[in-house]
Amino acid sequence: MRVSVIGAGIAGLACALELAERGVAVEVLERAPASGPTGCSWFAGGMLAPWCERESCGALIARLGEESLPWWRAHFPATVRNGTLVLAHGRDRPELAQFARGTERFAALDAAAIAALEPDLAGRFAAGLYFADEAHLDPRAALAALAARLRELGVPVHYGIDADLEGLGGRTVVDCSGLAARRTLPELRGVRGEMVLLRQREVRLARPVRVLHPRLPLYVVPRGADLYMVGATMLESDSEARVSARALLELLSAAYALHPAFGDAEVVEAGSGVRPAFPDNLPRLTWCGQTLHVNGLYRHGFLVAPALARRAAEALLEGRHFPEVMHEDTRQRRLA
Ligand SMILES: Cc1cc2nc3c(=O)[nH]c(=O)nc-3n(C[C@H](O)[C@H](O)[C@H](O)COP(=O)(O)OP(=O)(O)OC[C@H]3O[C@@H](n4cnc5c(N)ncnc54)[C@H](O)[C@@H]3O)c2cc1C
Repeated sequence: MRVSVIGAGIAGLACALELAERGVAVEVLERAPASGPTGCSWFAGGMLAPWCERESCGALIARLGEESLPWWRAHFPATVRNGTLVLAHGRDRPELAQFARGTERFAALDAAAIAALEPDLAGRFAAGLYFADEAHLDPRAALAALAARLRELGVPVHYGIDADLEGLGGRTVVDCSGLAARRTLPELRGVRGEMVLLRQREVRLARPVRVLHPRLPLYVVPRGADLYMVGATMLESDSEARVSARALLELLSAAYALHPAFGDAEVVEAGSGVRPAFPDNLPRLTWCGQTLHVNGLYRHGFLVAPALARRAAEALLEGRHFPEVMHEDTRQRRLA
């Protein structure tokens, strides 16, 4: 028995690894010609922020995210656990209070505590929230590490294959093709996200910093080697067009407002990805015949993929049902 996993984004690689580590013969099929900018995962910020995300996405995401943190430390030791700092400029202070009401597991900071955590932000913000247990990673390095681990386990990752469910007829398939699965999951929609990658040697940030704003919340995630990922727009659109001038203006202005030295940063890259999302913005495991779809990871792919992959493996191998992510009772399904 062989399981074919469609898609080498974070969902596909995590599912393939969970199955391979349980001794299942797996292959990964990816339509992009080579590893690299294959899908939405390439453009992610890499924040593993279950409690911050709780504010906008609720308890399920927080639970799946918290469950996933140890998996990341075990499978990608370069995961950095330095917490998240959440800030707001003076006139946006009410946003901070509202954010605090919607979440948990943070400490409230004053200006001195902010300066102690991030010396380069000293004197710039009067109040903030610190989520000490959160983490971040470089998504591109993490994808490469998971693919390398799959190779070690003898799992082939085939690039340049536009997998077709009908063509795979008879095989057990885990479909992690992101937005491309809309053909079978018509409720899926795209939420476009634009980002820029900056290089600035004069700013040192040790952790992701979120700056709240009523219309344009922004985050800056350190990537090492003086690189900072600045993200991200959230547009109800599945356009794969290049980054718009408006997005660049908004992202760069917000980075400049966080620290003026970002005005002199080198723009290394501007990119965009389309997040696959269901109407409730929550992930789902959906059976269609012999195919298990793992999709709708929205803005939490890295955060929740490990927890979803574990559920996918247990659904396939043990016929388990997980009502919080599986909308129909599928206890009878399992890998034959
Ligand atoms: C700007 C931005 C910032 C983000 N920041 C974060 C963050 O900080 N933290 C976080 O957790 N999440 C973040 N996300 C969300 C995260 O990136 C997504 O949730 C995640 O990438 C979705 O992963 P996926 O594997 O489902 O889809 P994808 O990464 O899109 O992977 C699907 C793969 O399937 C392949 N494919 C499609 N059709 C076929 C086919 N027929 N045959 C073979 N292969 C096929 C595609 O080429 C692609 O490689 C961010 C997203 C964006 C855009």
